[in-house]
Amino acid sequence: MSQIAHILVVEDEPAQREVLAYNLEAEGFRVSQATNGEDALLLIAEDAPEVIVLDWMLPNVSGIEVCRRVKSRIETRDIPVIMLSARSEEVDRVRGLETGADDYVVKPYSVGELLARVRGQIRRSRPALAGQVLVYEDIQLDSETHRVTRNGEPVKLGPTEFRLLSTLIEKPGRVWSRDQLLDRVWGRDIYVDTRTVDVHVGRLRKALTANGDSDPVRTVRGAGYSLG
Ligand code: CA
Repeated sequence: MSQIAHILVVEDEPAQREVLAYNLEAEGFRVSQATNGEDALLLIAEDAPEVIVLDWMLPNVSGIEVCRRVKSRIETRDIPVIMLSARSEEVDRVRGLETGADDYVVKPYSVGELLARVRGQIRRSRPALAGQVLVYEDIQLDSETHRVTRNGEPVKLGPTEFRLLSTLIEKPGRVWSRDQLLDRVWGRDIYVDTRTVDVHVGRLRKALTANGDSDPVRTVRGAGYSLG
């Protein structure tokens, strides 16, 4: 799939950070690294990752504080956070502190185990990146083979329309603003006018309704688009 899951590793210990980054990249993920909490928060605001692997013990801003801030913001609270900690008592404390972390791993951990946890979080939060088949009413999207069908009939989509539908079908009913769709479908680095979003939504609608089926994409005035 052209969309590659982006993982942020936040760890001040260089050897541990590099081993993690190396193994995540070997799995095909795009990896960003931060050595402290401040940098992590900046990176998250600039280029939101799909999963954050976050060490508890960091200089200045602790992992717990980073997690709390991520989970307190609407734009970032859906990003899964896997907390790393040196001792199981710390994990108990993290749980007790209600930081909102999605998973906890005690050091020393096996890299294989951590990779499995990362994949698990992506399957749960971003199924379209995990090669799964996503279904909304009579629409089926296979993120592995890139095939889309409606009522069993193939729907022909260009790559941009496919990514648009992947995004919308992951969370039916959620309203996406044009800016959010630009970030998700085109990426932050590319300059595209928000009207381009409308053009591609129009193409997606046309493809999905080619057999006379009803239009599943809803325009929410002043807000954006949603599926259903
Ligand atoms: Ca540390």
